[in-house]
Amino acid sequence: MSYVTANNLTKCFGDNTVFEDIGFTIEQGEFVTLLGPSGCGKSTLLRSIAGLNSIDSGEIWVQGENITRHSPQKRGIGMVFQSYALFPNMTVEGNIAFGLKMKKLCGDEIKREVKRVIELVDLEGKEKHYPHQLSGGQRQRVALARALVVKPRILLLDEPLSALDAKIRKHLRQQIRDIQKEMNLTTIFVTHDQEEAMIMSDRIFLMNRGKIIQADTPEEIYLHPANEFVASFMGHYNLIESQLAKRLFNIDTQCTLAIRPESIYVKEQGRKYGQGISAPYGGTIIGHQLLGNVIRYQVRIAQCELEVDLLNRTSERLLTNGSQLELLFNLNEIQPVRA
Ligand code: ADP
Ligand code: MG
Repeated sequence: MSYVTANNLTKCFGDNTVFEDIGFTIEQGEFVTLLGPSGCGKSTLLRSIAGLNSIDSGEIWVQGENITRHSPQKRGIGMVFQSYALFPNMTVEGNIAFGLKMKKLCGDEIKREVKRVIELVDLEGKEKHYPHQLSGGQRQRVALARALVVKPRILLLDEPLSALDAKIRKHLRQQIRDIQKEMNLTTIFVTHDQEEAMIMSDRIFLMNRGKIIQADTPEEIYLHPANEFVASFMGHYNLIESQLAKRLFNIDTQCTLAIRPESIYVKEQGRKYGQGISAPYGGTIIGHQLLGNVIRYQVRIAQCELEVDLLNRTSERLLTNGSQLELLFNLNEIQPVRA
């Protein structure tokens, strides 16, 4: 049996069904991310696992124990929220010790455990500080320490990085992953940021409108999207409808075809192209975005607009709007996707 098993979970708020008949399994030590657009039910699902939301039907099992009706305190789960939710009138130490005091641990043990997690999250020297004296990143590390100190069976994180600026976010992202690996801690992380999900996760559960659309490794989800929603959410796929696919590539399909911007090339004079590369198609540049190391061009070709990524090599000048070019498609990378 898996470490976590959820069967047929259904949750409604009044007549709004947030999710229906959801099921999944998670193995011990796995880092799973719930990814999906805002409002798709990620937080409600996470809170249901924590016991902060009731569910209307279904069962949740952890380590072979049915916890569906357990109170949050009895589930052995640690949770971190986007908003930190620290006690403002308690020091860092006090915030972290709180859960252990509730468990009636003795003073020496509390001191030892608090010291251990303070070191783990790099907060040495901040023990006597109050939350208002800390930066956002430090507050979130206190929240993380508070969740870790009780040695939870599962760690749940609901968009813990969303309120932080980009640099802190990247640092804390790595720190969470390192700690999680070191402790072999089964973790469910929520985000609406696909890059964050790709970087951090062993597996991603991609959700839309209360359903898990695809549960797979980041690589699988990126390379083999289960349907159009996944393709458009994950990697800026170009979606080419079936009639146009027939005209452009002579591919007979009822499905929409998906091709990633990095699988389309601009033809260079004198260069030889191998097998699996299409005939050239004339196109016109109609816009671009500079993404740092990559330039993403919008190119019009046969009444359809495609995104094409080119490496931003300084020696090459930007192609201006109206420039004509020839596109080549890596035919091996074109894949049909379900609606
Ligand atoms: P996400 O975390 O993916 O953004 P949520 O789980 O917060 O989505 O919300 C999913 C749906 O459930 C939304 O339609 C939201 O309005 C609804 N919802 C969430 N919490 C409550 C609540 N306490 N009462 C009523 N509706 C809620
Ligand atoms: Mg949410």
